[in-house]
Amino acid sequence: MAKQVVSRTYTASIRNQQQVQDDLDALGFSASKLWNVGRWVCDRVWSEIGHIPGHNELTSYLKSHERYDDLHSQSSQRVLQELAEAFNGWYGKRHNGDTKANPPKYRKHGDDHPRSTVTFKAAGFELDTKYERVRLSKGSNLKEYWSDFILCEYQTRPDVDLSTVESVQQVRAVWTGDEWEIHFVCKVEIEISESPGEKTVGVDLGINNFAALAYEDGHSELYPLNCLKQDDYYFSKRIAHCDDSDSDQATRLNQKKSARRTHYFHTLSKHIVQRCVAEGVGTIVVGDLSGIREDEENGESKNWGKHGNLDLHSWAFDRFTSMLEYKADMEGITVERVSERDTSKSCSCCGRKRKANRVERGLYVCDECGTVANADVNGAENIRQKVSPSPATDGGDRSNGWLAQPSTYLFDSESGCFAPREQATS
Ligand SMILES: [Zn+2]
Repeated sequence: MAKQVVSRTYTASIRNQQQVQDDLDALGFSASKLWNVGRWVCDRVWSEIGHIPGHNELTSYLKSHERYDDLHSQSSQRVLQELAEAFNGWYGKRHNGDTKANPPKYRKHGDDHPRSTVTFKAAGFELDTKYERVRLSKGSNLKEYWSDFILCEYQTRPDVDLSTVESVQQVRAVWTGDEWEIHFVCKVEIEISESPGEKTVGVDLGINNFAALAYEDGHSELYPLNCLKQDDYYFSKRIAHCDDSDSDQATRLNQKKSARRTHYFHTLSKHIVQRCVAEGVGTIVVGDLSGIREDEENGESKNWGKHGNLDLHSWAFDRFTSMLEYKADMEGITVERVSERDTSKSCSCCGRKRKANRVERGLYVCDECGTVANADVNGAENIRQKVSPSPATDGGDRSNGWLAQPSTYLFDSESGCFAPREQATS
């Protein structure tokens, strides 16, 4: 067992919600207003000199603006930083060929402002772990004669004790749609297990099978999306029946839908890590979807928009990969992100690259060496080979057909676990 300091975010409820809600609302609205001022400045600078200001530039433009003083200076800085990050994310997507990506939006619903998350850094909060209270600083514009801070009484999960963490780096006030909650971003010392082994596994994430796994010793696994698709279909229908997409009912349904998706991602990432421990895997190689442009030759990019009833965007895969990294970390397993380029087009046995894309019905057929593979498993194996070149490519001893017969694991919503389905043989 080795020790390592890592970042963790702990969520806490606010016990004196009633007393602090108005004050937190005021900060949340202020953060949205400052965001909008910053967003407007970006437009102006763009039309004047043809570039979008970065974080430091934005801060120097706006630090004397009236709205800047609604929040503690560090909190205001963080709002502008988020805005600059949102622009960077947008350039990245455009750069990678996502022509549908939109620049960050204004935070406004008609005349109303949503409640933005407010971040407090070291000088902006004071934590009292003994009495479980945290003081959050207001900006000078919102200070009143009787108080210049908001005193929140918080309650963490019973297994979290903030007095034992290395340090609390940031405190965030987050509006859940119903109430405010507090997120503590902490440095925590954890024990890391010895790596379970030296083997590698490739993971291909996608929209038919959410994950396809190709293990070094030849077997493969599929995790279809059927349960998430049913879930999304059910919720989308109910949301469509709401009178107003901004109504409380629609908001609640959306929250429920996203909570169930989060649960699915947690369960799947945990399951995959457990499978890796059982298989002696020390390195998980995962296709990085955040910057792909799948088919350079004919200029098409992979479409991550609406897919049937499922609305899965690249950030969902990113989020899943982060969960996988976090859980793998604890088991001493490394996660490596590699480019997905050509991984769906090349044959993982002989390396031949096909011009035509995937073959019908999810099978990849190589006209060079005759390999028949499940297309997603072939992709996963190519991803794995980017880190650990496979013996199969030089005519190794894998019998043909192994790639075409993966085991399939289905999510059982009754038990909340993944269980193997007997492979139907044809
Ligand atoms: Zn081949």
